[in-house]
Amino acid sequence: MALHSISLKPASSGKIRFSLPIGQHIHGHVDRIKYHSSTLITFRVIRYAPSIYPGEPSTMSRDPRYDILFEPVRIGPVQAPNRFYQVPHCNGMGNLRPRMLAEMRGIKAEGGWGVVCTEYCSIHPSSDDMPHPYASLWDQADIKANALMTEKVHEFGALAGVELWAGGAGGPNLLTREVARGVASMPSVTGHPFQTRAMDKKDIRDLRRWHRSAALRAREAGFDIVYIYATHNYLLSQFLSPDHNRRTDEYGGSVKNRVRLVRELIEETKDAIGDSCAVAVRMSADDATCTPEHPVSEERREMFEILAELPDLWDVNIHNYEHEMGVSRFIREGSLEKIMHFVKSVTTKPVVSVGRFTSPDTMVSQVRRGIVDFIGAARPSIADPFLPRKIEEGRGDEIRECIGCNICYIGDSLSVPIRCTQNPTMGEEWRRGWHPERIEPATSDATVLVIGAGPAGLEATRALGQRGYNVMLAEASTALGGRVTQECKLPGLAEWGRVRDYRVQQIQTMPNVDVYLDNHLDAEDALSIGADHIVVATGSKWRADGFGRYHSKPCPDLGPADQIFTPDDIFMGRIPQGRALLFDDDHYYMGSVLAEALVERGVKVCFVTPENLVSAWGVMTDEQYQTQQRLIQLGVEIITAHGLDEFDGSSARLSCVYTEKSRVVTADTLVLVTARTPMDGLYKEIAGMLEQDGSESATSVHKIGDCDAPAIIAAAVYAGHRYARELGTDSQQSRVVRQDRLFDPD
Ligand code: ADP
Ligand code: SF4
Repeated sequence: MALHSISLKPASSGKIRFSLPIGQHIHGHVDRIKYHSSTLITFRVIRYAPSIYPGEPSTMSRDPRYDILFEPVRIGPVQAPNRFYQVPHCNGMGNLRPRMLAEMRGIKAEGGWGVVCTEYCSIHPSSDDMPHPYASLWDQADIKANALMTEKVHEFGALAGVELWAGGAGGPNLLTREVARGVASMPSVTGHPFQTRAMDKKDIRDLRRWHRSAALRAREAGFDIVYIYATHNYLLSQFLSPDHNRRTDEYGGSVKNRVRLVRELIEETKDAIGDSCAVAVRMSADDATCTPEHPVSEERREMFEILAELPDLWDVNIHNYEHEMGVSRFIREGSLEKIMHFVKSVTTKPVVSVGRFTSPDTMVSQVRRGIVDFIGAARPSIADPFLPRKIEEGRGDEIRECIGCNICYIGDSLSVPIRCTQNPTMGEEWRRGWHPERIEPATSDATVLVIGAGPAGLEATRALGQRGYNVMLAEASTALGGRVTQECKLPGLAEWGRVRDYRVQQIQTMPNVDVYLDNHLDAEDALSIGADHIVVATGSKWRADGFGRYHSKPCPDLGPADQIFTPDDIFMGRIPQGRALLFDDDHYYMGSVLAEALVERGVKVCFVTPENLVSAWGVMTDEQYQTQQRLIQLGVEIITAHGLDEFDGSSARLSCVYTEKSRVVTADTLVLVTARTPMDGLYKEIAGMLEQDGSESATSVHKIGDCDAPAIIAAAVYAGHRYARELGTDSQQSRVVRQDRLFDPD
């Protein structure tokens, strides 16, 4: 039968009315179709995202091996357009920054995620996790704020999910000052000095009513999937837990009793909104009794069996959060499978789970082997919101793979908007108007010389190249990647090399970018090239003089120099011998990962830090516990809360940060992980020469990344990206940091 196509003008959003003659068909994606009569329908046009290279539609098509990932899947009364499912993930925005949030989620839908969920969404002021930002559905204003997100998500044909949340002992209520309600009277698991009130029958009735009301508000806000959130140590998981739930009423004791509240909430949510919204349950496949040797608990299995067919979808995670969202240093892709694999055998409902999946082959394997129906992702969707589209368009090699560093998690930890090492546009979609795939074309035919091919220089080169500038990238060494190429050789950090690989892969395809390796430039060389713009991205060097947080000036009592080592020395193969004292005044990963590297080489390591914990900042990225555990297991001697005062070549004097009491430890060598010196000499020289040249010189020079201010890799990538975005623009829009705090839902 011949198809009659109807020319539709893509609408940016909203519903349009269209008369459809009988017998004609529509080409393209539409959703929300309502038949008013045999000749009149209303529907929403799903806007196709323009190609990433403006004016160049993708001519590639997907590999048929991946077809299965693009099958629609029914979830109760709704249907997901494909198997790509962005599971709930926090982002440091929540109800504080709803426009930033809506734009960020919308871009995931544009990138092809068939389901896009909120973060945890409080049902009532008695569930409050501030200062960690969460979504909320407490009232009419919240409905409007959440509708910003659902509209963006629907615009691209995806389903919007909301994870209704009751905090229990996991919600300290510091903002609302409500008394937290718990399964029992128990200390807040957040570490704050509060206890919950043991819920009585009225409290349970209240909770059920609040949950039902929030579900109704969720539907009004436009959500398609509504969660019962029974994991992550929040209220409902505490009801399920044999340890926390010691109740003697019908909500405690037997397995059947402990699942009662979850079952009631599923049934009541279905009753309230189940005709038009799917009801999902998020629950862990194991519990605190499970061990790596015995990963499946019989009792958990029984719980899944009791509830099996009640929800429309199972979102399955695991009990150990540090494993579930573990950093790549400790946890590999797809590692939940050995724990959650049984769930599909006890239910006919679709199952989603996560595993930091970035390989389409692994995804297909998960579906074909019956482990999951949906590929769940938080981090892979943050690092590359266009991951599904890239697979669909046969551009799998362009996926910006997550490196598993958990910098995205610091947004939640520190109550600031999310950021990502791999994706510099993450969190900047609304505020700066940055799109992860599209960028303004060049405003001139200027040439740009980028000096230094670390993460800052590579990202500047890639993004300038994407804009169409003529770019020359000069790198002193014979390898691209700068610090990333060094650091990814350290134990567990291999995936960090993806920061380099993604950018190199992109740059290689750009005819307007030339790369010059083994080219150490001085200022005269740089200026003689005649580029219109020079970007200096020459990085930083670790200091060998003890300066850092503990010593606010260089420490005079460190010697002899040939027994002192920095991370750069170790990267260059200069390895300390004997017993090494590693003084970590940086407090992130470098100290502990170097300790591990040295132990691997047979060096005996004593790890000293002025903090109370090993790699204390690792709390922000949720890896501190595993880090300290690893060093203990490796037999590293750990001395916390001590600073380093002196080293004489055979011993070091330390002092307690609380009492200043000294102690002496033997050490043959000293490894200093303290602070870095920006390598900005070249920049200063070029800037000085340009200044001497007078005002006629049209050449501009900038410094970016670690050579400007040493920081985390994400900051260097961001600096490179920002330079490229702003070159040749008046950049007002990009430079202004728009505030979302005055959100007025009316
Ligand atoms: P960032 O994190 O800011 O990108 P890195 O330290 O990772 O910085 O990378 C800096 C890169 O600059 C290194 O690869 C280094 O070899 C290179 N580099 C340093 N000085 C010069 C120079 N004068 N000419 C060319 N490349 C340089
Ligand atoms: Fe992945 Fe790191 Fe980006 Fe998080 S910050 S999404 S872990 S690359």
